[in-house]
Amino acid sequence: MEGGWIDISIPLKSGMVHWPGDPEVRIERVLAIEHGDKCNVSSIAIGSHTGTHMDPPFHYLPGGTPLDALPFAATIGPARVIEITDPESVKPEELAPHDIAPGERILLKTRNSPNVWRPDAFAEDFVYISLPAAHYLAERQIGLVGVDYLSVGGYRADGDAIHHALLEAGVWIIEGLNLEGVEPVQYQLICLPIKIHESDGAPARAIVRPLQPAH
Ligand SMILES: [Zn+2]
Repeated sequence: MEGGWIDISIPLKSGMVHWPGDPEVRIERVLAIEHGDKCNVSSIAIGSHTGTHMDPPFHYLPGGTPLDALPFAATIGPARVIEITDPESVKPEELAPHDIAPGERILLKTRNSPNVWRPDAFAEDFVYISLPAAHYLAERQIGLVGVDYLSVGGYRADGDAIHHALLEAGVWIIEGLNLEGVEPVQYQLICLPIKIHESDGAPARAIVRPLQPAH
């Protein structure tokens, strides 16, 4: 919590939970001081959508913008955390009272944080953005949406259509946030994904700091 910043990213580690069918996460020390090497060096093998990461248009849209072309303004600036109480999915009815404005950066805090991150197994029943809510956010012309598990779409519910609805509307996506202990207020957000050439996604570090001091 240095300087009021809250880390809302998930640590990457070997064997961690990943989307079913995506590559296993393997991070191994290949040079180790404790084994007589001069320094510590690791080998890192991960899928591009591991842990806290971003989805660019190129994830789903042929010819779409890749993540290395992310404009800094998409992920650096004010962001609002909205708390969702629906235990199944984010629905338009729960978003409507929040008067979401064009260009807003919205982070959706659900019961996923922190519960579904605790077990080492993939949580199939995580809270996701329903297709009507994805269309709602697209129509509101928000700039960015962040979710607190590994996909904006459900494990069995419209994952492709939900990505399409958001990405075709130019909404940048952060997935895999942990919003534990993050109150539903306004924050300053900084989220920067690793710069991988023509990338369809990449791990990111995401931090927030309240815009007004808490009372
Ligand atoms: Zn992704």
